[in-house]
Amino acid sequence: MEAGATKERLYVETYGCQMNTYDSGLVAKILSDRFSAVQNPEQADLILLNTCAIREKAHEKVYGRLGSFRDLKKRNPGLIIGVLGCMAQNLGDDLFAMGLPVDILAGPDNYRSLPSLVDEVRDSRRHRILTRLSLDETYGDIQPNVVQGCLAFVTIMRGCDNFCSFCVVPYTRGRERSRSSASIVDEIRRLVDEEGVKEVTLLGQNVNSYAHEGIDFTTLVEQILAKTNVIRIRFSSPHPHHFPERLLRLMAAEKRFASQVHLPLQSGSTRVLERMNRGYSRDQFLELVDQVRTIVPGVELTTDVIVGFSGETEEEFQDTLSAVEYSRFMMAYMFAYSEREQTLAKKKFPDDVSEETKGERLSRLITLQREVAGKSNLEEVGRVHEVLVEGFSRRSEADLAGRTDSGKVVVFPTDPSAVPGQLVNVRITATSSATLRGELIRNVG
Ligand code: SF4
Repeated sequence: MEAGATKERLYVETYGCQMNTYDSGLVAKILSDRFSAVQNPEQADLILLNTCAIREKAHEKVYGRLGSFRDLKKRNPGLIIGVLGCMAQNLGDDLFAMGLPVDILAGPDNYRSLPSLVDEVRDSRRHRILTRLSLDETYGDIQPNVVQGCLAFVTIMRGCDNFCSFCVVPYTRGRERSRSSASIVDEIRRLVDEEGVKEVTLLGQNVNSYAHEGIDFTTLVEQILAKTNVIRIRFSSPHPHHFPERLLRLMAAEKRFASQVHLPLQSGSTRVLERMNRGYSRDQFLELVDQVRTIVPGVELTTDVIVGFSGETEEEFQDTLSAVEYSRFMMAYMFAYSEREQTLAKKKFPDDVSEETKGERLSRLITLQREVAGKSNLEEVGRVHEVLVEGFSRRSEADLAGRTDSGKVVVFPTDPSAVPGQLVNVRITATSSATLRGELIRNVG
């Protein structure tokens, strides 16, 4: 772009997981020579929806949103609309066939080509699609600045090789590949030193498979601890299969490595886990829960659970309930099974649990999980936690909010001595199933 030329305006909307949020940052950075970001699609020359394919509901939201852009497109025929991410990869040309206002489809490994795709659409006045999956694209040289106050998210690897039978990710995000540890350390060092970031969450579909030139995930975390001044590191998600004990020992030994582990259970029934191709049994999962709790005192666990997977019987669902009760998860993402295109489950197992049964099981699971979390939170009353202040609570500026080392959200009265980015000691005085309430007792850093 010539010096002095006015930039065009880019509006990006993100659906789905934190990795998508990170990818939207990558996209904005890739286009930043020519486009500056705007917060309103009405002002944009280029609208990009970065989509998720994990559940049908996510698709429906995007169809609705695209439909709502029809009038914008009529008023501004020069407007270009693109769909990025997992839906673009998963549905491909079918999305063009739906009659929605879409000019560009670009899969997760094709974002470097966005500037030329925009030019091609302008020149040819025809739509363009690019959904090549790559074996080596990690965008490791691009630092997108995905910062929320004192928190940042950094993607360390892309893709997944696990092929869980229900999951579309290996088809939409391709095979596993890891960024170099040097590029990750460099990005985190810059976020901490230049952007005031205090806590970083390392992202990947399966972070315990991280591998780059002989460096595994535990060694990567050791390097980040040694080479940056970040005060807390979290990560999401590991796979329960082959969970590294070394990582747990590091978590127990290093105060800056937060005592929180996301362990996606998916189902508590060994038979369902086999159909899901998860690579572990119920007993192996519960043994891992015991191991994590033994090695890392005070650790909190979170999870993902799917109910109503193909063929799930009441007895198998009961196994999920008892596994959830045993594991005492602090928080769970709970969903009814939604069949996805391309997956092994779609080809091999009928989606034969009725929607009514799925809904009924989901609400029983949610009720149980609330009880489990509520009970565990009650035990917190009277304890003192070191809390990283993130800002005002969502409800009111009369309260500040932050999280404990183990990831629990704590709300406490606003105090001039506690500012965002600071570690403070808070005594817990009351709880609900989702939040702890407390009082500030003294600053620690
Ligand atoms: S581990 Fe399984 S559920 Fe997770 S992204 Fe990979 S295939 Fe999907």
